[in-house]
Amino acid sequence: MAIRVRERVDFSLYERIYLPEIARGVFVTTRHLLGNLFGSRKTRHLQTIQYPEVKRVYPERYRGQHRLLPREDGTTRCVACYMCSTACPAYCIHIVAEESPDPAIEKRPAAFEIDYLRCIACGFCVEACPEDAIRMDSGMDPGSGP
Ligand code: SF4
Ligand code: SF4
Repeated sequence: MAIRVRERVDFSLYERIYLPEIARGVFVTTRHLLGNLFGSRKTRHLQTIQYPEVKRVYPERYRGQHRLLPREDGTTRCVACYMCSTACPAYCIHIVAEESPDPAIEKRPAAFEIDYLRCIACGFCVEACPEDAIRMDSGMDPGSGP
C-alpha cells in the first residue's frame, strides 16, 4: 500500500492569529441576523416556519407520510392481516388486531402504529397491502381515496 506524505503547511502570521477570520465570521453572522430581523421579506433568508401555526404545503408527489384509507361507510379498509408489518424491513409497524363487528370482515386494527424514528420510507408496506388500505402520499384528506 502506497503511503502518501503530506507537505507541512506553513501558515502566515495573519493565519496563525485567527482573530481577523473570527471577526470576519462574526461580521457575516451579524449581517445575516440583522438582515433577517429587519430586512424586507425578499431579502430575508429564514429557513424556518412558525410550526404548527404555519404548515408547509407538501408537493403533490410527496411520499413521506402514511395514511390509512377508509371505506365508503367510514370504517378503515385495514383488515389487520399483518402483511405490511411482515414486509417492513425496519420492523416499525405495530398492529393490534380485534374482531370486527361486521360479520363479513374477520378483523380490524384496534391499534395501528408506525414508528417514524425507524421508518425508512421504502414503501414496501404500501406494496404488500392486499386491501389498498395504506398509502404514502400527500393526500391528507381521508376521503380522497378512489
Ligand atoms: S415505508 Fe418501509 S420502513 Fe416505513 S413502515 Fe412502510 S415498509 Fe416499514
Ligand atoms: S397489509 Fe393492509 S390490510 Fe394488512 S394490516 Fe397492513 S394496512 Fe392493514
